[in-house]
Amino acid sequence: MVSMETLVSLCKRRGFVFQSSEIYGGIGSSWDYGPLGVELRNKIKRVWWRDFVQRRPDMLGLDASILMHPTVWKASGHVDNFTDPMVDCRECRHRFRVDQLAETPWVHYCPATKGNKFTIPAGGACSHCGAARTLCPDCGKGELTPPRQFNLMFKTLMGPVEEDAAVTYLRPETAQGIFVNFDNVLQSMRRKLPFGIGQIGKAFRNEITPGNFIFRTREFEQMEIEYFVNPHETVEGRPADEYWHDRWIEDCLAWFRRYGIQSDNLRLHEHARDELAHYAKRTADVQYRFPIGWSELMGIANRTDFDLKQHAKFSGKALTYFDEERKEHVVPYVIEPSAGVDRALLAFLADAYREEEVRGEKRVVLRFHPELAPASVAVLPLLKKRDDIVRTAHAIRDELSRDLTVVYDDTAAIGRLYRRQDEVGTPYCVTVDVQTVGDSDKGEPADGKVTIRDRDSMEQIRVEAARLAQVIGDLLRGTAWAEVAAGAGRS
Ligand code: ATP
Repeated sequence: MVSMETLVSLCKRRGFVFQSSEIYGGIGSSWDYGPLGVELRNKIKRVWWRDFVQRRPDMLGLDASILMHPTVWKASGHVDNFTDPMVDCRECRHRFRVDQLAETPWVHYCPATKGNKFTIPAGGACSHCGAARTLCPDCGKGELTPPRQFNLMFKTLMGPVEEDAAVTYLRPETAQGIFVNFDNVLQSMRRKLPFGIGQIGKAFRNEITPGNFIFRTREFEQMEIEYFVNPHETVEGRPADEYWHDRWIEDCLAWFRRYGIQSDNLRLHEHARDELAHYAKRTADVQYRFPIGWSELMGIANRTDFDLKQHAKFSGKALTYFDEERKEHVVPYVIEPSAGVDRALLAFLADAYREEEVRGEKRVVLRFHPELAPASVAVLPLLKKRDDIVRTAHAIRDELSRDLTVVYDDTAAIGRLYRRQDEVGTPYCVTVDVQTVGDSDKGEPADGKVTIRDRDSMEQIRVEAARLAQVIGDLLRGTAWAEVAAGAGRS
């Protein structure tokens, strides 16, 4: 597995992710997505939206605002319960989440070895004196304060007058925007249960211990679905909510696999009773084997009717569905698949990273799924001194870029250009050479063909430039390279 340092360095060097406000020394836990990062991010969001919202007849979309009525957060329980217990070090002032202390390695000045300094793995004891950690894990000297509850919501003031009435919050999850619009969507779109609402948007949490690159940040983006089911119905002999919960778990796992995540790097973690949120009947996390170890990639919760009932109570508006068959009003149960865009991006990046040896040289390649790769195609002129080659390459770039993300590069020799594209995961390179345009001095006619190089096999085929858009389109839609190659003839 690739290390986090290698990924952070690749991301900065190749324009995926930069430290926010870097020229001012950076700001804790905020990251900016560079030219390639934003393409990757947009593509992850686009395929998620297409697969889970656009293509499903039982799904609809929504884009709710980040700032909402403050009572939303009272009703949802966030004002009272969205807290983490934290402790502070009295010496170095570092702050820790109590529930993460056991998972943190700790610094120890061992009395049995004249105070020598050791870093002891998470949860372990000193092998010399046998002591377990009681002091600050970072400085190894300070006592920790008793735990205090810390609310993770960002407070903000709305409007020009600084008064209490105007206090609201940056949303800590996109979910509540969906719940408060449940009736609007139901009435305007005339849906029958079960149906779901999907939303992609920013969320903000004042995390006590952000870190691990883009894994845990204070500003992040979520792709969430609230799937409403009739709790009085059964499907295949099971309560509808339990049936649909399993279906969503399968669909989410299959989605990550479909876009290239290796099965071995995915697993399911069922929340034990004491881990479950107060509103949840069952929660399963999809975990990924990140460079920092197995950690949550997304959560899939059965939130029951908790949220709709709470909002009905606080707003005084009925948030129910009329079941025609049973002639009764019901409050739907909700299955919530909730994924982080940034964590998904980190997982796709880590999973795609490979170091290979090619003819005695190291090749770094990001084996992104073709639909996720930041650039779908790179167009490379073989000789940048030849005007006709450069002109043809530009014309190809212009044509392909109507539908695809295309890069043009002529700043190095071809071998180098290929390596550069491998390192950022571009699945196909198109090369324009002398044969494409011909050489009138030597009396060689143009063959009108270009070379397509496949990132993974590094094989090359030649196809007519006129057919290029079609061939690249087929490849990106999933036609196997071998099939396309068989129809084109290898070069
Ligand atoms: P964690 O236990 O890691 O704090 P959580 O269980 O609080 O996460 P949820 O509230 O279930 O997270 O949020 C759903 C998803 O949103 C997570 O699975 C994750 O992908 C993403 N997410 C949550 N918090 C953050 C964060 N601080 N930075 C980046 N992504 C996040």
